[in-house]
Amino acid sequence: MIIDSPLLNIASWLPRSYANGPGMRMVIWLQGCPFRCVNCQNPDYLDFKMNQIVTVDKVWQLFQKIPNLSGISFSGGEPFAQAVALAELAKRVQSEGKTVVCWSGYSLAQLQNGKIQGAMDLLESVDLLIDGLFREELAGDHILRGSSNQQLHFLSGRIQPEELEEIPRQEWIIKENQVTYTGFPIK
Ligand code: SF4
Repeated sequence: MIIDSPLLNIASWLPRSYANGPGMRMVIWLQGCPFRCVNCQNPDYLDFKMNQIVTVDKVWQLFQKIPNLSGISFSGGEPFAQAVALAELAKRVQSEGKTVVCWSGYSLAQLQNGKIQGAMDLLESVDLLIDGLFREELAGDHILRGSSNQQLHFLSGRIQPEELEEIPRQEWIIKENQVTYTGFPIK
């Protein structure tokens, strides 16, 4: 079988979320991160191991089936470790007039230095980037961030700062007798 769509290695996903960017958004958590921030919220997503391998085409088909999405959010893990495939997905999302939010442990300057494959391409299709490592000593209730050193970059102007004011800090999910949350810790 020949697969001509880029592949993504996903740790988890949600079809609809209100806590990971403005409006109702699909969220994808990517598997694998080169960093090891102390007390990272998603320790199971750090290893570069095969988890759920899906094509960009498949995610795109799912995205299109869910009505009223404002866009998609990429979290992790480290999304820029899979920048080539995510750039393809992000372009498709933007082509429908929807927005792309992305977290990264890299700083924006590091992403722009040309050393990370696909990073410039992905940045061109990201509307809001939240960059920087999580630093526990700087943890607090910052919008869409775990610690105050992390920064919001409104790269395209298609997402405005005031759109972030109503985002809930946490969202609880009940599924098959399990309760989990997405979002950020409350200090
Ligand atoms: S960059 Fe993010 S996912 Fe990676 S270790 Fe740090 S907090 Fe965890």
